[in-house]
Amino acid sequence: MPLKRGYIHVYTGNGKGKTTSALGLCLRAVGRGLTCCFIQFLKGKPTGELTAVKNLPGFKIVQTGRRDYDFTVTEADRALAGKAVELARQALREFDVVVLDEVNVALHLGLISLEDVLALIEEKPEDVELVLTGRHAKPEVIRRAHYVTEFRLVKHPFYRGEEARNGIDR
Ligand code: ATP
Ligand code: MG
Repeated sequence: MPLKRGYIHVYTGNGKGKTTSALGLCLRAVGRGLTCCFIQFLKGKPTGELTAVKNLPGFKIVQTGRRDYDFTVTEADRALAGKAVELARQALREFDVVVLDEVNVALHLGLISLEDVLALIEEKPEDVELVLTGRHAKPEVIRRAHYVTEFRLVKHPFYRGEEARNGIDR
């Protein structure tokens, strides 16, 4: 039972909760019989969500990066991000909800082009919900979205020197 009308979401800003919000949206969607494809740009390390959805039918997570944030951009990163765009194009034809996690960062780093992202938005079938996450969302993307939420950092343990915790931060 697909959606009648699919909208576009942008979760951006420097506060914690963008990726986990998109995961929460997918959990809700799966519970209502919708299928979700969660494509992670830049990420290539194990996370709790990757393990959790392995046994959850209708919810697929694909990691396309070779590591977490590393602001040195290599050709290998560019090629992987290009592949992720292709995967996204395919996913838009096969799933009810498609999440492009950290796509805004991939765009910000120049790993993919604005044209790539705008083309995906353009190609989105009417009944597919599309979520784009990551800091530095471009105004051109924000303009085309229906739900836009900016997560603003107020406090984060990282700034007290604390490390990321499994199950909460990754
Ligand atoms: P999460 O995956 O926890 O929902 P996020 O997607 O909003 O976080 P990202 O920018 O993708 O945030 O960073 C992911 C990781 O960085 C998480 O471990 C998160 O706790 C941590 N993090 C998020 N915001 C900040 C911040 N402002 N400063 C430092 N670390 C952060
Ligand atoms: Mg994130």
